[in-house]
Amino acid sequence: MKRAVYPGSFDPVTKGHLDIIERAAALVDELIVGVLNNNAKIPLFSVEERVNMLNKATGHIPNVRVEAFSGLSVDFVRRCGAGFIVRGLRAVTDFEYELQMAQTNRSIDCGIDTLFFTTALEYAYISSTIVKEVASYGGDISGFVPEAVKDQIYCRISETQREKCK
Ligand code: ADP
Repeated sequence: MKRAVYPGSFDPVTKGHLDIIERAAALVDELIVGVLNNNAKIPLFSVEERVNMLNKATGHIPNVRVEAFSGLSVDFVRRCGAGFIVRGLRAVTDFEYELQMAQTNRSIDCGIDTLFFTTALEYAYISSTIVKEVASYGGDISGFVPEAVKDQIYCRISETQREKCK
């Protein structure tokens, strides 16, 4: 069975992520979307919420499974019994870091290769950070995120803004 893992923070999932998920899922038998629980960063959404949002956004793709993980991506990939890591490349600015990560992962486990997908042009400028920024000013994010998660993002942003006003 050909299995791949697409790891990331997905805080929150965007249409750019979803595009990569759909294209990668079409190439493998099973795609596991790994949601990183990173203690070093304070995310807008908890890891459980991010898993839940990804499940809502990918419900139409039968061979996609969403799981939380912490620690090294390559260890998670091994635990999943997968042979590939999927990553997206938006621009040359992503390239240097992604190349370094791919080479590091391969030196840890030469049985794991990284597959890079160039992003769809219409989503190339989208990042989770931009989505949060636009939503925080009340801008329209419907072009940037899957419809199923849009309201949840606006709700969380307004909750955090209310907290800051207290
Ligand atoms: P990170 O792993 O750096 O926290 P993200 O969770 O935002 O990053 O992204 C996970 C993966 O998705 C990375 O490979 C990233 O390059 C890719 N990605 C992020 N935004 C987009 C986009 N708009 N289009 C395609 N791929 C993207």
